[in-house]
Amino acid sequence: MAKEVLYSSTRGALDKVKASEAILKGLAKDGGLFVPDHIPSLEKSLREISELSYQETAYEVMKLLLTDFTEEELRYCIEHAYDSKFDTKEIAPLAECGGAYYLELYHGATIAFKDMALSILPYLMTTAAKKNNVKNEIVILTATSGDTGKAALAGFADVKGTKIIVFYPKNGVSPIQERQMVTQTGDNTCVIGIEGNFDDAQTGVKKIFTDERICKELDANGFQFSSANSINIGRLVPQIVYYVYSYAKLLKEGRISDGDAINVVVPTGNFGNILAAYYAKQMGVNIAKLICASNSNKVLFDFFKSGTYDRNREFVLTSSPSMDILISSNLERLIYHIAGDDAGTDASLMKELNESGKYDITDAMKEKLSDFYGGYATEEETFAAIKDAFENYGYLMDTHTAVASSVYKKYVKETGDNTVTVIASTASPYKFTRSVMTALSHNDDSKDDFELAEKLCELSKVDIPEAVTSIRTAKVLHDKVVAKTDMEKAVKEFLKIQ
Ligand SMILES: *Cc1c(COP(=O)(O)O)cnc(C)c1O
Repeated sequence: MAKEVLYSSTRGALDKVKASEAILKGLAKDGGLFVPDHIPSLEKSLREISELSYQETAYEVMKLLLTDFTEEELRYCIEHAYDSKFDTKEIAPLAECGGAYYLELYHGATIAFKDMALSILPYLMTTAAKKNNVKNEIVILTATSGDTGKAALAGFADVKGTKIIVFYPKNGVSPIQERQMVTQTGDNTCVIGIEGNFDDAQTGVKKIFTDERICKELDANGFQFSSANSINIGRLVPQIVYYVYSYAKLLKEGRISDGDAINVVVPTGNFGNILAAYYAKQMGVNIAKLICASNSNKVLFDFFKSGTYDRNREFVLTSSPSMDILISSNLERLIYHIAGDDAGTDASLMKELNESGKYDITDAMKEKLSDFYGGYATEEETFAAIKDAFENYGYLMDTHTAVASSVYKKYVKETGDNTVTVIASTASPYKFTRSVMTALSHNDDSKDDFELAEKLCELSKVDIPEAVTSIRTAKVLHDKVVAKTDMEKAVKEFLKIQ
């Protein structure tokens, strides 16, 4: 038997907990994020894994990190998550375009990559609650830059023993994203717009989460919080799976040979997706470069270049709203690891970030970032990438994927590195129809997003996903908007706590 993996806070003030407890808690009490105390290696070879289905691959990966779940429990969670909610049996297909492989992570219920983890999180969470004899109802509190919200709502709607509250920036998401959320059914769901940006929503949620007074009030009323954001380790672990799966798939198709290195490009916001690739590398997937692609909110680009993280800058609204983020929460996990799993260093840097909005890492820490490469794409470059892929290769991509595509091209030009490359494709083009149509010079302001989707379908011959057609006439069920200072009040109102 492999050694049990335990989880501790990046800020270190607490004892280690089992995987199921870390999933239930979401965020550690000291405000830190749960990190594994060691990263186990894959047991099967990647060649062996290449013969497995997505679900079997998921089991091979997840059993190594969620060590207190039984085989039966894990298989139950996996089978219920990765089923016909996905529109392809492959779950995460690879498409070749212009010499790179696009790993399409948007074939789930809400057509963004968040489904890869959020279709399984409710099962992991309710299983964890059972294992730990939790009697309280679990309240999922989530901040979203657009995609997490809907994916979490879809996952938790009508799940017994849970309630879910989602905060989104009222003017910071696409019309389709907003419509997806405000039409969500399920008595246990609550969707609230805030007058502020994503960082405000995320900071507000973290504050409520770690407030001892509010948590006590909740407990007295039979509730406890957990998180569906990528700060929850139950989000991160399922995301490691598709990096293992895509490498194995390239092996199986003879695109690479045993042991070959690949590069991975990830359009990045909160740093969850790319951190999963980093963990996949530690588990034994030969990833040479982890290319972190940002939009005009290029805090991470500057960080990888200079070793200084500085959020003191203007927040820009872009055509890739799910990456409009200045505080990338999951970077804290990487900081902890490159500090040599040192919670003291992490805690003091995060304190600096909180107080002055910036921090510097040491040269020794910087050296450990050599596998990472940071790049960014302007709006113009993003649109050009969409147009280029469509016109030259007949491949349609969304704005987030286009940021990655553009950064990848610049990386190859700069370095001449022709290693086989996987680009994480994080959303369906139909989630950001107007921007995609603008890129293709076919925008029409007299049409709404649904009419425009029909045009895009005529043009591209790519089917409009069910997730878009089904919300066109759905009733708006959530219309609340609050000031960013009133989030606590809104939570209590929904839970009917005085
Ligand atoms: C969430 C999201 C991202 C950013 O992923 P992180 O894990 O937050 O870095 C990129 N693209 C899309 C479409 C997303 O929904």
